[in-house]
Amino acid sequence: MKKILAVIAVIILGGIGYAAAHTQKGNPVQNPAQVEATPSAQKISVFIVPGHEPDNGGTNYKNLYERNLVVPIADDLQNLLDANGRYAATVARDANAWAPTLAAYFQNDWNAIVAWEQAAKAAFMRTTPQNVNASGENHNNAAVDDALRLYGMTKWADENNIDLMVHVHLNNYPEAMAKGIVGKYSGFVVYMPASNLKNSAAAKPIAQAVFDRLSLYNPVSNLPVESAGLEEDSQLIAMGAYDTADMPSILVEYEYIYEPQIVNPATRAIAFKDFAYQTYLGLEDFYNHRANVTATSSYDPADHVYDWQNRVTNANADPRDIYAMQTALIMDGDYPPKGKTRNDCPHSGTIGACTETAVAAFQQKNGITGENAFGERTFEALKKIYENKS
Ligand SMILES: [Zn+2]
Repeated sequence: MKKILAVIAVIILGGIGYAAAHTQKGNPVQNPAQVEATPSAQKISVFIVPGHEPDNGGTNYKNLYERNLVVPIADDLQNLLDANGRYAATVARDANAWAPTLAAYFQNDWNAIVAWEQAAKAAFMRTTPQNVNASGENHNNAAVDDALRLYGMTKWADENNIDLMVHVHLNNYPEAMAKGIVGKYSGFVVYMPASNLKNSAAAKPIAQAVFDRLSLYNPVSNLPVESAGLEEDSQLIAMGAYDTADMPSILVEYEYIYEPQIVNPATRAIAFKDFAYQTYLGLEDFYNHRANVTATSSYDPADHVYDWQNRVTNANADPRDIYAMQTALIMDGDYPPKGKTRNDCPHSGTIGACTETAVAAFQQKNGITGENAFGERTFEALKKIYENKS
C-alpha cells in the first residue's frame, strides 16, 4: 500500500524550497552493463526495505498489518540472497525497530538528509519542472518524517554502494481499506522508476525479471490503474523520486492483504516464502542472464517453500498441502483451468471449482482414472512435479 503514504508524502514536501547546494554523492548510475561488469569477487549488494515504519503506516485488514507482514518476506529474500554467495543483502528493519545502522543514520544525519532531499528536489524542479506536481498543502508531521526516512534510506544506499533497492509491500485500495473488507481486486504489481528518472534504464530489466517470475505463479493486480502489472512511477520516493536514487530500485506489492492465502496464517507462512523465492529467482534470472524462464525452470518449492508430504484427502485438508497441490498444478500448466484467469483461480490454499476442474484435466492428461481428485496416484504424480524431479 504505497500510494496513500508515499505519493502524498511527495506532494507534502513539494513546497519546500531550495535550501543548500546539491550535495548528492555516491555511485554513478548503475545500468545492466555496469552490473555485469561487477568483479566476481565483489558481491551484488541488495538493500531490502520492508514497506512503511516499524510502528506506523501501511494498510491493514482486521488485525493484520502490512508493516509487520512484509518483514518475513524481506527476511526470506535476504536469506536466499545471502545463501547464494554472490549477493550481500541488508534489510532495513524488523517488525520492532530500524536496523541499528539506519537508526544511527537517522539520528546523526537527520539535518543532512533534510538538506539533501531539498537540494535534490530543487535541482530536479529546475531542470524538469514539468515532471513535478508541487501543488497541495498538508502539514502532517508524521507523514513528513516517514517520507524523510524513506529519502534517508535512499541517501544511505547511495553512500553505501548499494546495487539494488527492493521495496516490499502488500496491496490494498482505499475503498476496501476504509471499510476493512475483503475487496474485489487481487494480484501483485511491480513498480519501477519512470523513464524521466536517471535510475529507470537500470531498473526496468530487473523489474521485468521479477515480474516474469511472479506472474508464473500469481495473478497480476486487476485494479484498473495497475493492470499492466509492471508499472512506472516517478512520484514514489522508493523509486528515487527527484532523481535521488543512484541505483535501480523496484517496489513489489505482493497480493492484496485480504486475499485468502495471506489471511490464513498457515498458508501465509508458505505464500510469503514463495513470494521471496520467486523474487530471488527473478533477480537470479537477471543477474545470471537466464532466458526462457518457465514455471519449472530453477523452481524447487519442496526445498525452498514447503516440503509437501501429505496427500490432500478432502477439501478441509491442511491448507499448506492444498497450496502445494495448486503449485504443482500451476507448474504443470493446469491451473488456472481453461477459460479462467489467475484472478479467478488464486493460488489460495483453498479448494473449490478451480482446483477440482484443474485436477480433472490433469488426470485426463495423465490417464489417471478410477479415483477422485484426492486419490493416491494423482497425489504421487503431482508430487513428482512439485519436487521438480520429473
Ligand atoms: Zn505499502
